[in-house]
Amino acid sequence: MLKGLVVLDPGHGQFGNPHTTKEGFYEGTQNFILATLLRDELQRRGFEVLMTRNRVEDNPTLEERGRLAGEAGAILFLSLHSNAPGTSATPERYPKIRGAETFYSVSDEAGNIPVARALNDAVVRTMNTEDRGIKTRRHPDNPDLDYYGVLRNSAQSGCRRAFLVEHGFHTNPEDSAFLQDTESLSRLAAAEAEVVDRLLSLIKA
Ligand SMILES: [Zn+2]
Repeated sequence: MLKGLVVLDPGHGQFGNPHTTKEGFYEGTQNFILATLLRDELQRRGFEVLMTRNRVEDNPTLEERGRLAGEAGAILFLSLHSNAPGTSATPERYPKIRGAETFYSVSDEAGNIPVARALNDAVVRTMNTEDRGIKTRRHPDNPDLDYYGVLRNSAQSGCRRAFLVEHGFHTNPEDSAFLQDTESLSRLAAAEAEVVDRLLSLIKA
């Protein structure tokens, strides 16, 4: 008996956002590896899973990624990323900024907050990194809509359980060392699958 469909969105394309700490690693590739591990964990637990990228070299638009969730009838949309500091960070501060944060869709704040909190807690605990909190970001032209295209398109296509998880900073030595290690990514995938499974009743509500 399948528990429902989850759409996983490994952010960016294959060579999107190089890790600044070690040559040859890219956010877009590490997101893809994490997504395949999380897909396997969720399938093992009885979920059906679709990915917005089936091959590491795929790079669909933000609209295509988000819309897949609603069009396929997903109960959950998860966009997987790692982070980098904004332009305001000084060169001295830049590599020191680390930690996990999770954005959730404003289309159902009450329903999404507990899921975002549990996901972010699992990432912080597994990566042993800082907790930067759970957040929303609203569209400047319409505060009822999400700023992030993947979340906005997921919600507008019918999947309001939409999250964007920033798994630490690929510009920080400790966070990126974790993200570059497949065994560590496996533990992260297992922890996130456990949260999805445990909160299924909330996710389905
Ligand atoms: Zn990203």
